[in-house]
Amino acid sequence: MASSPAPAASTPGRLKGKRCIVTAAAQGIGRATALSFLREGASLVVAVDINKEKLKTLEGIPGIVTKNLDVRDGVGIRALAQEVKDIDVLFNCAGYVHQGCILSTTEEHWDFSFDVNVKSMYHFIQAFLPSMLEKRQGSIINMSSAASTLRGIEQRTVYGATKAAVIGLTKGVARDCVRNGVRCNVVCPAPVATESYKERCQDLEDSDKDHIEYIEGKLMGRLATPQEVANLCVYLASDEASYHTGNVFTIDGGFCL
Ligand code: NAD
Repeated sequence: MASSPAPAASTPGRLKGKRCIVTAAAQGIGRATALSFLREGASLVVAVDINKEKLKTLEGIPGIVTKNLDVRDGVGIRALAQEVKDIDVLFNCAGYVHQGCILSTTEEHWDFSFDVNVKSMYHFIQAFLPSMLEKRQGSIINMSSAASTLRGIEQRTVYGATKAAVIGLTKGVARDCVRNGVRCNVVCPAPVATESYKERCQDLEDSDKDHIEYIEGKLMGRLATPQEVANLCVYLASDEASYHTGNVFTIDGGFCL
């Protein structure tokens, strides 16, 4: 029997007064997390996304400021850091899932995947870390995946390589900042029931559909909800997670067992 998804965290106030920035905030895990940060008392959530239309659905919500920006745009990211100062929480959520094995992955796919999934985090951390270090306070959360150092997934070669790199990046930043009050952790979900996941399933060949059915049939018998991943991100953003840094948080309903 499938387990039931947890509701949104029910003790609001854990992020009281914190100023947060979330990438890929217009849909899926990023959106659920941006809204959860707000519910938990964040005083500001900067919602960054490349999709202007979807971002509009967050406009007008008190506490949210939307920013239409490509996470590959280093100049735009540095300008944003000048615009919004004193950020306490940076959630690097944006990512692109390339489907293919090593032989079908072109150099263009390879570079694009690394630019969106890894280099974007380099830009954001470089832009927002200095003010965290000045305050000696901050939480950086990077989005990886079960497809990384944790597991090889069929047809996800470059995706898994980028997400493994995110784990290395996280540990490096955490190590450099360990005595300076800034924490950096990484979240590794198994497949999550988001819009893009559903679209990807529709594109798949029959053999891959079998694989998806296998995932859905495993252990908990369902995919994670975006809210369940958001609940973990709220914890990592909060001071309750004060002893976590450089830690890898798998959230997978037993997928890696
Ligand atoms: P999604 O794909 O449903 O939505 C991603 C959002 O990112 C969209 O609003 C899109 O407009 C935005 N975006 C895409 N490219 C961008 C860019 N260059 N600059 C700014 N914004 C951009 O997202 P999701 O499924 O919630 O996934 C979010 C993250 O979680 C990704 O890093 C993904 O790799 C990771 N992840 C997802 C799953 C899953 O099954 N959904 C599992 C493990 C990890």
